[in-house]
Amino acid sequence: MNGDDISRLQLKRLKAQVKHAYDNVRMYRDRMDKAGIKVDDIRKLEDISKIPFTKKDDLRDHYPYGILAVPIENVMRLHASSGTTGIPTVVSYTRHDLDTWSDLMARCYSCAGVTPSDIVQNAYGYGLFTGGLGFHMGAERLGALVLPTATGNTKRQIKMMRDMRTTVLCCTPSYSLYLIEALQEEKVDPSELDLRIGMFGAEPWSDETRLHIQDSLGIRAQDLYGMSELYGPGVAAECPEQNGLHIWSDEFLVETIDPDTGEVLSPGEKGEVVFTMLTREAMPLLRYRTRDLAVIEYEKCACGRSHPRIMRIKGRSDDMLIVGGVNVFPSQIEDILVGIEELGEQYQIVLETDRLDHLYVKVEVSPKYWKKVDMKELSSKVVSTLQASLTLRAKVELLEPGVIPRTEGKAKRVIDLRKKI
Ligand code: ADP
Ligand code: ZN
Repeated sequence: MNGDDISRLQLKRLKAQVKHAYDNVRMYRDRMDKAGIKVDDIRKLEDISKIPFTKKDDLRDHYPYGILAVPIENVMRLHASSGTTGIPTVVSYTRHDLDTWSDLMARCYSCAGVTPSDIVQNAYGYGLFTGGLGFHMGAERLGALVLPTATGNTKRQIKMMRDMRTTVLCCTPSYSLYLIEALQEEKVDPSELDLRIGMFGAEPWSDETRLHIQDSLGIRAQDLYGMSELYGPGVAAECPEQNGLHIWSDEFLVETIDPDTGEVLSPGEKGEVVFTMLTREAMPLLRYRTRDLAVIEYEKCACGRSHPRIMRIKGRSDDMLIVGGVNVFPSQIEDILVGIEELGEQYQIVLETDRLDHLYVKVEVSPKYWKKVDMKELSSKVVSTLQASLTLRAKVELLEPGVIPRTEGKAKRVIDLRKKI
């Protein structure tokens, strides 16, 4: 579809979805009534800005069954978010919702270059977390062969990968880094494997990490975005251009806003990403604030797709650390660390306070440089590079390769030991 056809479809679906939410969910009805908005006031796409935002707390306030717009007997499944930032959020699906989600994930695979002849090893966590089943259903919908290895048991992952001739690996970027080390330990040369594409998402990762994964495994490492509130993985995915993630705009209407004022930003401005789901039955979400910060690119992509692209997600607004009054995003620290050749990929940020806040950056030295460089010199290089960019003095601890605990799911990079007042 070209941009105009997509907009027409979006408007038709938006009108129907606003009506569905208004008619069937008390929260939306109360809010729209209070704001003086009627369903019929939505006449063009821009009218969406009249509708109040929906936030994560709205879902928590409706625990356990969420913002249900259908009778419970029409609900086929529940999932819950991993709760990285607090109490889990429960989300619900009708048959239509599961079907749409499978289609969206199949489109992500296909967009990344995966075909029905591929053998897909799915090392995301199965269970309440949406990763496992989302990647599973999408690969089945595409018609690929799926190996539901789930997380953990890295030796068995490697054995399956080799014996079954896996061509596509699905896992978090952090787990793929761990797998690269495990392959070295097991003395498996990645060139013996048939891997060609990695479907990596669920957490932020940098371009340098991508290059490292691509070089080490001899694959194309593709980024994929989603969140449990918006079905799960499958909201947006990279095409082989690797220049932004295409948002499936026939299902998701995207906006960016100023996270402090809620004001809608112009295309190209960095802000909090807000999604309206266009056909969700069980749990309609109107103007859902993701708290993720990014830039949306509306220019047509070199691959020919007209779906807008979410440029790399630079962290979430609630990720921001305030250290002695200075705002710092963990992704900023990561960007600096990966730019220093002598360092490895694993790091941790620890915050402590006595009367002043202290920022500790613990980072592994790359195995190639361990015991080969002057640690004092390297350490002061890291300190001054961090200081130049963060305007903040961090204490740096250089660690032996392998000592930071590896993860099977999302990495926990920040340890905040400051007492919350
Ligand atoms: P939570 O972690 O909040 O419990 P989810 O497991 O649904 O819930 O995680 C969704 C969040 O994960 C997103 O809001 C986003 O911050 C992050 N995320 C998912 N995919 C990506 C990606 N490709 N790049 C960066 N961040 C991502
Ligand atoms: Zn593209």
